[in-house]
Order: sequence, then structure tokens, then C-alpha cells
Amino acid sequence: MNILVINAGSSSLKYQLLNPETGDLLAKGLCERIGIDGKFTYKPQVDGKAGRNAEDVPMPTHAEAIQTVMDALVDPANGVIASMKEIDAVGHRVVHGGEAFHESVLINDEVLKTVEDCVPLAPLHNPANLTGIRACQKVMPGVPMAAVFDTAFHQTMPSKAYFYALPYEYYENDKVRRYGFHGTSHKYVAGRAAVMLNKKPEELKLISCHLGNGSSVTAIDGGKSVDTSMGFTPLAGLPMGTRSGDLDAGILQYLMKKYNLNIDEMLNILNKKSGVEGVSGVSSDFRDLSDAYDKGNQRAGLALDIFCYNVKKFIGAYAAAMGGVDAIIFTAGIGENSAKQRMDIASGLEYMGVKMDAEANNVRGKEAVISAPDSRVKVLLIPTNEELMIAMDTANLVKK
Ligand code: AMP
Repeated sequence: MNILVINAGSSSLKYQLLNPETGDLLAKGLCERIGIDGKFTYKPQVDGKAGRNAEDVPMPTHAEAIQTVMDALVDPANGVIASMKEIDAVGHRVVHGGEAFHESVLINDEVLKTVEDCVPLAPLHNPANLTGIRACQKVMPGVPMAAVFDTAFHQTMPSKAYFYALPYEYYENDKVRRYGFHGTSHKYVAGRAAVMLNKKPEELKLISCHLGNGSSVTAIDGGKSVDTSMGFTPLAGLPMGTRSGDLDAGILQYLMKKYNLNIDEMLNILNKKSGVEGVSGVSSDFRDLSDAYDKGNQRAGLALDIFCYNVKKFIGAYAAAMGGVDAIIFTAGIGENSAKQRMDIASGLEYMGVKMDAEANNVRGKEAVISAPDSRVKVLLIPTNEELMIAMDTANLVKK
């Protein structure tokens, strides 16, 4: 079975063709500058097939972009399948499913209408996702398609976790609540953790730390998300590459008045100029921060400290929320690659049964147990694979 996974942005489109049963990736790539001049990248994962790198291909709309992907996949010389018939279904990443979608769904007109209704909750992302879906429907009529939402996994949160202490009508009338994001990643690594620990998901209390350019921590009890650090938008929770994470809303009024900023300018600062980049003045990239700190840059060190301290605080909070934890998972760019940050976060938690193993932690980019053999709480490194999760969900829906 082959599933095409599409992640459509407003002027870009990422794609992967994979087999969800074996996990094999056949090809992946990217369409960029859609609606401008069009650049096409194709990376076949099959021996002897040549790729294409940022080639000029006219793509006035997403439909031409999808058509270009199709042509490359079935190309007699460098394609990886013989014809479009070998694509069993398409899985689309959709950012926001609001309260309407608790799980991935097969796409029909009613689903599209509901995704449209969620546009005010994700005004930049959902319209682009919809454009990608409609373009695919045009180029691949009759092929089943599924929508896989970043928010769906968190719809199991209890109301005490997703409510903000605001006047009730903002929830009732305006749908203001915690939604959470990175759900596809948290779901994937939670599934892998159960396999690694040889337990059923229902038996486990997990804390999943997705630490990348965007970062979030999720409490997963019995296979279900019960709390997560991102909120109504992805700005909440941990300090990130350039996002502030949680802060006192009173700061907005203070700074906006003092510097005569409007709300868009203020939000731009919180989303794009804050986080570890804002604190360090160096970079949003943790490799640059570590290098700068090693050369004596104290603000880079402070930024790293703030980040690790906040992850640690969420771990403590979520262990309390669930009444314990069986395993802590590290994933995404920082979680998969940075032994130093993992150690900083998970050390000092011996009182709650977490004992790291420095040697086991000296690993990157592959599934590993990085806690000591006698650690009551296991600490796991699990590379995330959102595309594979989307393909698996899509395959399950199609089989049904
Ligand atoms: P992601 O958003 O999951 O792609 O993660 C991207 C982030 O991972 C980058 O901004 C880096 O800060 C971080 N990262 C990637 N490789 C490393 C590494 N070797 N050490 C520390 N951080 C890394």
C-alpha cells in the first residue's frame, strides 16, 4: 500500500510517498514559490533513481505543483511507481480541526466545510491546507483522501485542562480554549514508546517532549492526551526558537503603551523576535547557542538555561497532573540530537524516579532508552515521524 502525504502551505507543498505497513519511504520532496516562479525538488529513495534539486518548474497554482509531483513519481526513468494507480490514498496534514475533529477523517464535502469553519482559528494555515486538498482532488479524482489534524490528538483533554479562566462566554461564543498542536508527533512517539516498553498504550503514563524550532510538552495517560503546553495558538507554553511561550499578559499593555506598538507589532515580537533568539541575541538554533555559550557568551547560556528549566517545570507539572509517570520521551530536532539539553532537562529529577545514563544518552537520531537500567521512570529518545503517522492514519481509514 502506498500513501502520498501532503503538507500544503500558502506557497509551498511538502510531499512524501510511503508505505505505512513497512514504513518504507519511496520518495519525498518539496514544491516552493507556488504562484511566483515555481521550484521543484524531488528526492527518490530508490537506488539508481536521479533526484531534482530546486529546479525551475512553472507552478501558477497548487494544482500544477501536485501535477509536477505526480509526473516525477511516475516518470519512466526516475519515478518510483509505474502509474498513479499505485497511490492508494492521500493523507493531508491539516493544522486546525477545532472541536469538530477528534481523530483523522476521510475527506468529503462536509469535512471540507467544517475545516473551512475552523479557518478563524488558524487563519494562515487552514486556507493553505484546504487549497492543497482541492488541488489534489482536481489532479487525482476518485483517490480517497484523509485529513489528519495537528489538534485532534489533544481533543481528549478534560475541560479543566483546556479551559482558560476567562469569562465563560469567550469559550461558548468564540471557541477560546486550549487546543494544543504537534498532536501527530506526540501520538506517533507515544505509540512507539508503548512498543519499546512492550506495554499496551492504556497501561502507560507518558510525558512527551517535542523540542524543535517549535516546542511542546504533552501529558499522555492511557494513550490519550490529557494536557499539553501549547494553547489556543502555538505561541503558548515553552519558550521556543523565536516564540516567547507563556508570559504575563500585563506585559503586553506595559510594552505597547511604552513603545506605542499596535497589537500586530506586539504579536510579531512575541512570535518572531522572542524565545531563545530574543534572549540570546544570537540565534534561534540551539547549535549556534551551544557554540556561542562554549565561546563564553553568557546570554546564550541564559537562553539555554531558561529553555531547559521550563521543559523541566512542565515535566514536574504533568507528573503531578497524571499522578505519576512511566516514561519521558524526547523527540524533534533538539530532543533527538542534543544530549546536553536532554541531560540538563532530565537531571535533578531523581526524587521522582528519573535516573539518566550519560553513556546511553550519548546518542542521536535513533530510538534508544537513555535512562539508567535501574531508573524507575524510563527516558526514551524517539525520532518523530509525522508523515508516517499521517500515512498510517490514512491507511487505517481507507481499510475501514
Ligand atoms: P525541528 O523543528 O524539529 O526541525 O528542530 C529544529 C531545531 O533542532 C533547530 O533549530 C536546532 O535548534 C535543533 N537541532 C538540530 N540539530 C541539533 C543538534 N545537533 N544539537 C542541538 N540542536 C539541534
